[in-house]
Amino acid sequence: MQLDALWNYMQFDMEADRFESGMRKSPNRLKLLKQRDFLLEQQNNMKKVESNIAVMNDRLEAVRDEADRLQGVLAKLTDELRENPPETIEEIEKQLAAAQKLEGTLRQYEQELARMRKESEQLDRMQRDIRTSAARTKAEYDELKRSYEVEFKDAQVKLNELKARAEEEGKAIEPTMMARYRQIKQHAMPPMAKLNGDRCGGCNMSLPAATRDHLNTGNDIVECDNCGRILFVPTMRA
Ligand SMILES: [Zn+2]
Repeated sequence: MQLDALWNYMQFDMEADRFESGMRKSPNRLKLLKQRDFLLEQQNNMKKVESNIAVMNDRLEAVRDEADRLQGVLAKLTDELRENPPETIEEIEKQLAAAQKLEGTLRQYEQELARMRKESEQLDRMQRDIRTSAARTKAEYDELKRSYEVEFKDAQVKLNELKARAEEEGKAIEPTMMARYRQIKQHAMPPMAKLNGDRCGGCNMSLPAATRDHLNTGNDIVECDNCGRILFVPTMRA
């Protein structure tokens, strides 16, 4: 009886599937994935800090150049005053005001430079911290990866055994029936359900009379009208 064989096959198939999904949920694997995400995040943070440092260095250079230029202007102005001292009060006041304005601007630049140096130190610290914690995580990750690889290899051997056993059982199933089973498996797990009174054992919906009649008469695959599972009646039928 094909459906009995299919039901039997399903037990092995499900066992292999359960084992495989257990492998995916392995604590070591989940921890590795988490560490990998963390490392990627640190890499992104590092890129951000590096680009901030580059922007900061450009600005630092620009402000420094501008401060140098103004210092030159101020020195020139002072020389001119020495060589050619102003004669009227108005002229003295005018020159004085110009010099004071330049000095004010220079002070602002100095403040900005001091602020940027502080910010730059902060960025350097941040960069060091990221590097340290990334290196620590990377070392943990590498170690965990090595032990997980051993674990995975062993599990893979077991999984292959389970799959081979299921495949062996599956040889008794007609290809068309197997194809249908696989199709149903895409949307219903497990893909077969026992009949439970007049209900589908998979989704618990009560089956229409026509479906039940079909189950009792035919030898074909009969699917639940609601969930689409292959219905299975284990007892021998007339
Ligand atoms: Zn159902």
